[in-house]
Amino acid sequence: MTQGPPHKLVAGYRRFRSKSYPAERALYQSLSEGQKPHTLVIACSDSRVDPVHIFGAHPGDLFVVRNVANLVPQIDLDGGRHGVSAALEFAVERLAVEHVVVMGHGQCGGIEACAIGLDKLESQFLGPWLEPLQPARAEVIARVGEESLATVCDQMELLAVEHSVRRLHQFPFVTEAIRNRGMQLHGARFSIASGILEWMNADGVFVPVVP
Ligand SMILES: [Zn+2]
Repeated sequence: MTQGPPHKLVAGYRRFRSKSYPAERALYQSLSEGQKPHTLVIACSDSRVDPVHIFGAHPGDLFVVRNVANLVPQIDLDGGRHGVSAALEFAVERLAVEHVVVMGHGQCGGIEACAIGLDKLESQFLGPWLEPLQPARAEVIARVGEESLATVCDQMELLAVEHSVRRLHQFPFVTEAIRNRGMQLHGARFSIASGILEWMNADGVFVPVVP
């Protein structure tokens, strides 16, 4: 049996309809003709790291894919239901976005679960989903050891973003869009505690964006 909408959602919807929507009514109406977002953001499902908030975006600005640990998995042509690949294809091929941003974040539960060890994770779906983080885990532990979980997580958050950006190059339509129309790939990390946004430079180093 279905239930009515939860009170918190209804209250939020009423605020939206009384404040934000009237202010952006014309924008919504023009967007009903079609969308032309400039950027695809691949971010974590974590409730604290909403790209629309962080980038001060308006409706129609960002095409957003969110999943646990902001992963771009390996390209897989097995005909399965690959949500990230489908969204990536749609954003790059149909919407012709100018930028693709993989945005990680501090205190990521998915990263921490892998850092602790996926063999210790009692889960039907999370374990296999987080498997692409294993090379980042191995590389970070080889570099800094495993004594400090906080250090391992911190370094994994950055390296996992770098690996996901690298995997974007496995998709032929991505490399074609880079070559033919100058689409750009980016990596970033948002710190929940400090509000600092770091951006990955050409050397794979994350540098704070001046607020
Ligand atoms: Zn996360």
